[in-house]
Amino acid sequence: MNLILLGAPGSGKGTQAKALSQRLKTTHLSTGDVFREEIAKKTALGAKVQGYVTSGKLVPDAVVTEVVTAKLAALPGSFLLDGFPRTVEQAISLDAYLKKSGKKLDRVVYLALSEDEVVKRLTARRNCASCGELYNVVSKPPKHAQFCDKCGGKLVQRQDDTEETVKKRLMVFRDLTEPLIAFYKANENVFEADASGVAQDITELIANELGVPAR
Ligand code: AMP
Repeated sequence: MNLILLGAPGSGKGTQAKALSQRLKTTHLSTGDVFREEIAKKTALGAKVQGYVTSGKLVPDAVVTEVVTAKLAALPGSFLLDGFPRTVEQAISLDAYLKKSGKKLDRVVYLALSEDEVVKRLTARRNCASCGELYNVVSKPPKHAQFCDKCGGKLVQRQDDTEETVKKRLMVFRDLTEPLIAFYKANENVFEADASGVAQDITELIANELGVPAR
């Protein structure tokens, strides 16, 4: 099953994408993760996108689309896209690529969350610098402040999770990604999930909607 997961920054796309891709045995492709890795490895692509990512702006459509289509072309099986597309232009390019390569999109899942909740969640978000485990200083605090429960690694805040940058990312979402949701609602079978509850319950809700067998 080929899927797209849409939602504001902080709506839980990453968490849901990890859980659902395991259940569906599909490849999880997060453009944000790809860019952060490239920046950390100091590659040419990393240098190209760094300014956009750290300031909360969108990387130009042509750059992102090239990265995603190259990754999809190398994939033997199905995919779950997390963080792409983010603009109507990216969606049109993805559509053209899928048609050309004989693949098809099966479902779009939209994680709906209020802006107040997004700001609260993102500014409280931390992740382990070693294993990537996600925490929230309010709703999922680590047992020992600043250290990962799983591996003891140091917890860090993403550079783009500060309040100022979060507000900028939300503006970008409102201007560029909300029209994309309307685009998909007009063209595809979109499932809108309330993203305000507990992560595991939301995973079950989506899995059930997608017809994935219960655990
Ligand atoms: P995310 O982890 O999905 O919140 O993405 C982090 C940052 O990566 C975004 O704020 C953008 O700067 C960049 N990014 C990720 N995906 C895209 C995309 N589809 N189009 C443009 N920029 C993107």
